[in-house]
Amino acid sequence: MTISELSILDLQAVGPTASHNILQGILDAVRESVLIVDSSTRITASNLAAYEAFARQIGPLENRRLSEVIRDVNLHEAFQKAIDIGESSNIKLEFIGTEKRRYDIHVAPIEVQNSRNAVGVFYDVTQIELLEKVRQEFLSNISHELRTPLTSIMAFVETLEDGAIDDKENNRRFLGVIRRNAERMHGLISDILELSMIESGTVSIDIKQAKLFNLVEDVFASLSSKAKAREVKLINHVSPDLTVRADPFRLEQMLTNLIDNGIKFNRPSGSVTVALHQANGSHAISVADTGEGVMTEHLQRIFERFYRADRGRTREVGGTGLGLAIVKHLARLHGGEVSVTSALSRGTTFVIELPAK
Ligand code: ADP
Repeated sequence: MTISELSILDLQAVGPTASHNILQGILDAVRESVLIVDSSTRITASNLAAYEAFARQIGPLENRRLSEVIRDVNLHEAFQKAIDIGESSNIKLEFIGTEKRRYDIHVAPIEVQNSRNAVGVFYDVTQIELLEKVRQEFLSNISHELRTPLTSIMAFVETLEDGAIDDKENNRRFLGVIRRNAERMHGLISDILELSMIESGTVSIDIKQAKLFNLVEDVFASLSSKAKAREVKLINHVSPDLTVRADPFRLEQMLTNLIDNGIKFNRPSGSVTVALHQANGSHAISVADTGEGVMTEHLQRIFERFYRADRGRTREVGGTGLGLAIVKHLARLHGGEVSVTSALSRGTTFVIELPAK
């Protein structure tokens, strides 16, 4: 006996009320929205998913005209075609209810008591399409970010090959440009690999009591020549005996990204100050600079991969556009969070909040 024979037999055996309940139970258990309409396109049956998707603001769907619930010409044509000539079709729909959602819909004829009705099954593809968009944007960003330094490397290699290699005044300068662009590509690829490892969950953290003062000093030491070149003062306000619960290597990585940005987006004679505050069972590590600040419209987006508030400025100061995304993921890996506040021309403060226990 096949599964369909078994289910038909069972439904017949249990009687009309019970079989209706079984069918309704199955329909309510599926994630796709299902609408059945009669020959005058009035809804005769629906499931829970359809109620959630289309009826929240208007109440029960049964006995309503399809056009009352969803106004879409293509959808109507598809249902009408199924009823009039018994033909199935697939269409796409964008529905704006409490939020905007996109559906792939299969509409098919269905015989109910000698009359031709139609059933529509709505697959919600909003999330899949969003992920696909993010994937495409990510690929196009990476390609763009890699192509820019590569184009420069190729141009300078060609110039050297065309004779500039013997030009004693410029050949070293050209090699310097090639090296800087190669370093930029290397940094970008390292950050992409790092981010993808953190996102895929392959990075594990080893939480200990870490002396924040010492970590900050180490980061300051590695960034001191950059700070000096930009005349930015680095200030460690952390008390030397305080500890935080964190993976020291990962915390250093987060601090490096934030302090590096604090130096890059600062002004001459500005400063970057690191401090620690304890409140409500958490440790808040702040990295505050006296730089140009970030406009409110950009502020919530700067943690996105490749988002830059000012592309031109970034080209000038360098960077991969991935640093803050890495900080955000690492903070979350610690069970914490990172936030930002900023005032234009006054400065920006990032706060990494970590659980104290
Ligand atoms: P980038 O490699 O470009 O620095 P990030 O992810 O670290 O990438 O930062 C993303 C963007 O956020 C930067 O390009 C910049 O526009 C803005 N930003 C980050 N930190 C600061 C800061 N301290 N002051 C001003 N703008 C900042």
